[in-house]
Amino acid sequence: MKFIADNMLGKLAKYLRMLGYDTVFSPPGNARDLIHLSKDENRIILTRNSIFIRDHKPENYLFIESQHFPDQLIQVVKKYGLEINIDKFFTLCLICSKPLLQVSKEEVKEKVPENIYLNFEKFRQCPSCSRIYWCGGHTRRMEKKLMVIVSSL
Ligand SMILES: [Zn+2]
Repeated sequence: MKFIADNMLGKLAKYLRMLGYDTVFSPPGNARDLIHLSKDENRIILTRNSIFIRDHKPENYLFIESQHFPDQLIQVVKKYGLEINIDKFFTLCLICSKPLLQVSKEEVKEKVPENIYLNFEKFRQCPSCSRIYWCGGHTRRMEKKLMVIVSSL
């Protein structure tokens, strides 16, 4: 299951990627491109834009009811029965939604801060934007936040 989020739903998109669900941003301001991308790549459109729905009548969409992020995520998880599997967390780049590759500690030596290199063993890298991921504080905070949201389901 893949998604395309409109540009009001950046945080939702990021957390869906974190869960391991491929989610792209809509091209800004162009409803037709959004519809095409949805059809070409079989992506469900997530949108809070009722005018867009009225004017373009997309086939495959979910109107996101809340403007608050946790409620948005809960709506999507419930609607599509998304799997919350900690093994799938951080398998996609949070920026471009591409599958991350495992990289060795040696490979990232010159690319991450020294304290990160010294304190972490496992690293993943995005083949598209080259961003490097490790299970640091930011990751832990996102996981924690996610588990709080999920526990309210
Ligand atoms: Zn990336």
